[in-house]
Amino acid sequence: DRDTEAPLLSVRGVSKTFGKLAAVRDVSFDVRSGEVFGLAGPNGAGKSTLFNVLTGVPFGPDPGGHVLLRGQDVVGRPGWSITRAGLVRTFQTEAVFDDLSVLQNVRVCASPSALGRRGRVAEDRVREALETVGLTDGDAPAKQLSLVDRKRLMIATAIVSRPSVLLLDEPAAGLEPQDQDQLIDLLRTINAAGVTIILVEHVLRVLRTLCGRMIVLDAGAVIAGGAPEQVLADPAVVQAYLGP
Ligand code: ADP
Ligand code: MG
Repeated sequence: DRDTEAPLLSVRGVSKTFGKLAAVRDVSFDVRSGEVFGLAGPNGAGKSTLFNVLTGVPFGPDPGGHVLLRGQDVVGRPGWSITRAGLVRTFQTEAVFDDLSVLQNVRVCASPSALGRRGRVAEDRVREALETVGLTDGDAPAKQLSLVDRKRLMIATAIVSRPSVLLLDEPAAGLEPQDQDQLIDLLRTINAAGVTIILVEHVLRVLRTLCGRMIVLDAGAVIAGGAPEQVLADPAVVQAYLGP
């Protein structure tokens, strides 16, 4: 029974303050194995900071918060160790080295946790990741890639670590609707292969299409949670997006 199954990821009372600013306030939620879990909220709500503290880079949460992956608290571990445990993120901007090839980008940018013998990422892992995201020409210079293909490359670099939970920070940003559809298909494929996904996204269509459940952050705190159609119609959520 899914509802009684222990969550894959359990976030408990996580906060992050910068001086007087509470960027993330006492956030708790559970993600079950196999879910695509949505995370929305206006700019500055604390979504990217939450990804930082979940993955420990460049900082973990304030004392007292817990991030349980399969019941094990990863708070305080170095980032590579959290990645090795299965929590892997992407960033809001596609950090791609233009002068390197697609293959070289994956090799250079993969987490240290993906490194095998002789400190290199195993070639079969790189090939598998590029195949999954649909980048067929590994020797192509990254500067020739379209925006959606740069996003594919960023996702390949993340999945080469074989995450159990993939955290995606606004992957659909800047994409035309038909490219959003390609991204949706890709995320479905990755999810169907057994990767649980936490999706930070502003494009509501993408959230509605992919997520079974979601939460909304405003000023660092969770203001709503549940099925996307309920959450996105919640007056508190509409208000948070429109501002005071
Ligand atoms: P979101 O991703 O939801 O747009 P962020 O997590 O990037 O929001 O930012 C949340 C708040 O925390 C913002 O007010 C931002 O300016 C602040 N913030 C984020 N990172 C830092 C930092 N390293 N130092 C100080 N303030 C930060
Ligand atoms: Mg952000």
